[in-house]
Amino acid sequence: MEKKKCPICGDECIKELCYKCNEKKDSGYIALIEVDETKSREVKKGFLVNKNAYRTGRVFHVKKEVFRRIFNRDESSNFVFIQIPVGNFLQKHL
Ligand SMILES: [Zn+2]
Repeated sequence: MEKKKCPICGDECIKELCYKCNEKKDSGYIALIEVDETKSREVKKGFLVNKNAYRTGRVFHVKKEVFRRIFNRDESSNFVFIQIPVGNFLQKHL
């Protein structure tokens, strides 16, 4: 069977997400993946859409209700890309 990579943490996985990230998702968390915008190519409306976005290695797992409070919007996917200033903000406030 072809092995996939978990889009959140990069671990090998069989399903869409790895076991650990899937557990987080089922508990109502969304993953915020920090990327370096200056080293990434494609940015759309301030959010990176490119799967090859340059990751800094920092990932934040936050409850969806917390995400809604911080970003003032809902998000249906399991993860979003954030930029470094947002990551710094989250590190201080979470
Ligand atoms: Zn994972």
